[in-house]
Amino acid sequence: MEKLESIKDHAKKLKLNYLNTNADSIVENADINNISYQNLLLSILENEVDLREKKAQERRVKAAGFPVLKTIEEFDLTFQRSITQRQINSLIEMDWIDRMYNLILLGPPGVGKSHLCIALGYKAVEMGYKVSFTTMDNLMHCLKTQEISRKSKGKINNVLSSSLLIIDELGYLPISREEANLFFQLISALHEQTSLIITSNKGLEDWTELLGDPALTTAVLDRITYRCELFNMTGKSYRLEHRESLF
Ligand code: ADP
Ligand code: MG
Repeated sequence: MEKLESIKDHAKKLKLNYLNTNADSIVENADINNISYQNLLLSILENEVDLREKKAQERRVKAAGFPVLKTIEEFDLTFQRSITQRQINSLIEMDWIDRMYNLILLGPPGVGKSHLCIALGYKAVEMGYKVSFTTMDNLMHCLKTQEISRKSKGKINNVLSSSLLIIDELGYLPISREEANLFFQLISALHEQTSLIITSNKGLEDWTELLGDPALTTAVLDRITYRCELFNMTGKSYRLEHRESLF
């Protein structure tokens, strides 16, 4: 008993959380099942590594800042026919992140743009990438207030150190001249070091009006579309089609 307490104590100091929490049952189980020393050590170390990876992933999911959790498995391709299973299979390999490609998802409300970008982001987190999700509106807010708000500064630092930045809902709210400039600076800073997923209800041809300046829009689009896959998501709104009624 004393030895067990001592094992837990050491495990705690070494931050071996699996051993610290399960020392009793590990020893008991090894006794009952006659587990060899090698297998016992191996199993403890494997469990310790698993637990650590699980915790790291939980931290990355939290840091990504997804508004809700959506998965690729939940995405119904028989409803959204602009994207094929083959394209999804290729996207979830995340090779495009390593190659610094960007994705642009365009389409009207309800076609699954947010669902798809969150699901891809979540998959990327599962595969060990650092991901940051933000709406365009929130991104603008953080860029403008980073000098006076620690929260905003934190988000921007997070954005800058991510392998994948997801910007949802570009084009829903008007963008001021100052904001367009900040956006351009950010896109330039991220160029060729962070992959982007951008979703918008506006076609690329309408981005000039959105960003207010043709030269700036060209410069932004130039960088974003340099290595880029564009998905025009058409069809009906999933929300309207699957509307739940109270009565
Ligand atoms: P958008 O961002 O294009 O406006 P969302 O991704 O927010 O649309 O989709 C609206 C709702 O419908 C969400 O709850 C989403 O999970 C669901 N949804 C949209 N498209 C699909 C789809 N193809 N399969 C499953 N759920 C979908
Ligand atoms: Mg959306």
